[in-house]
Amino acid sequence: MYSELQQKDINHHFTPFSDNKELSENGSRVITHAEGVYIYDEKGNKLLDAMAGLWCVNLGYGRKELVDVAAAQMTELPYYNLFFKTTHAPAAKLAEKITSLAPAHMNKVFFTGSGSEANDTVFRMVRRFWDLEGKPSKKTFISRENAYHGSTVIGASLGGMGYMHEQGDLPVAGIEHIEQPYYFKEVSSKAGVDLTPEEFGIQAAQSLEAKILELGEENIGAFIAEPFQGAGGVIIPPSTYWPEIKRILAKYDILLVVDEVISGFGRTGEWFASFHYDLKPDLMPIAKGLSSGYLPIGGVIVGDRVADTLINKGGDFNHGFTYSGHPVAAAVALKNIELLEAEGIVERVKNDISPYLQKRWAELADHPIVGETRGLGMVAGLELVKDKATNQRIAPDCKAGGVCRDYSMANGLIMRPCGDTMIISPPLIISHDEVDELIEKAKKTLEQTAEFYNLL
Ligand SMILES: *Cc1c(COP(=O)(O)O)cnc(C)c1O
Repeated sequence: MYSELQQKDINHHFTPFSDNKELSENGSRVITHAEGVYIYDEKGNKLLDAMAGLWCVNLGYGRKELVDVAAAQMTELPYYNLFFKTTHAPAAKLAEKITSLAPAHMNKVFFTGSGSEANDTVFRMVRRFWDLEGKPSKKTFISRENAYHGSTVIGASLGGMGYMHEQGDLPVAGIEHIEQPYYFKEVSSKAGVDLTPEEFGIQAAQSLEAKILELGEENIGAFIAEPFQGAGGVIIPPSTYWPEIKRILAKYDILLVVDEVISGFGRTGEWFASFHYDLKPDLMPIAKGLSSGYLPIGGVIVGDRVADTLINKGGDFNHGFTYSGHPVAAAVALKNIELLEAEGIVERVKNDISPYLQKRWAELADHPIVGETRGLGMVAGLELVKDKATNQRIAPDCKAGGVCRDYSMANGLIMRPCGDTMIISPPLIISHDEVDELIEKAKKTLEQTAEFYNLL
């Protein structure tokens, strides 16, 4: 019943973010190859990958230029570390390129192997910064419920996922969470709550000020947030949210960490979503689209204020990873950015394909089991509901999302469920025809999900 590969996998592979017992009954889907926006599995199925892997394959699959650059770099210098006063061309060139695209006050990059390692780096940089500034009590981070900042101990602690916290006694000390700006959950689907998105945005932002006052400004080092929440369900804050957060941060001396791991490198039609929301981060973790996922690489873009202190007052910074700025990954990341530039992909997102995707995605709001659609750039989400009048969920424990996902896969479309929120984040190079295919498949999937629950 299982293929040879499925059997090996069941016997010996411990799969991340999965119920491994259930997997051993059904077997994992074996992905064999990919091209453009499509992936293929062992059984011969062709799937439109509307998640770009895990939000990362921005350039799409099968870009030979990235393969060639990797092969050339492996031939020339497959590995050398960046510790102890050494560097190499890919790291130096990539750091220059990234900072040329980042906000003007950000001029240094610290490389890591992943987004989680980037957030661990942020945690150490912020604490070191305040120590050097003579304010060692400013140790606490404020994050948000339902945030995602990675899966290392610090990444998961900074994140606000209850189902992660409950495994391993997280968060670690010194990390506090405030409410998230999730209008659909907190207002649209709650009886008796009557706030406009603008009013709610202010209210959610003000939970930051309340937390600062509760803990004392002298104890808080940084506020960390994604520009829009990705893994939490493509939650796009109301227009009033970020301006109010900025007002509060300006009033107190607290660093701003904008986690651009998903939103960076063109996903919103800007190089970074910080431009979209006019944010001036002190630190900016990046990964995912940095290399379009072709090789693992991440980093932290460091603003001048933090860099000046860490570098000019700090002496040795006792932190780094064996694979920080790995030469092959860095060479691929540099080529990835050069291709995004040369092909005008970020402009195309802004002026052409994201307006088209968002216009077509919004059509799904007409479906009887869709309570809301939303999107920004090349991410979008929709809420599955039983009844549009009350926005009540279809089944207990948000089980409808999983049902919807299974129909979607059977229809040849990879959408991801976050509870009963269905989300997409396709490769930036998706064509108009492929967007049409995505929408047709999503419509059929919604129809089947509604039928399954007798809601038509
Ligand atoms: C994926 C993600 C991370 C973690 O990145 P990894 O490379 O999986 O460690 C951190 N922050 C955000 C916003 C992410 O989406």
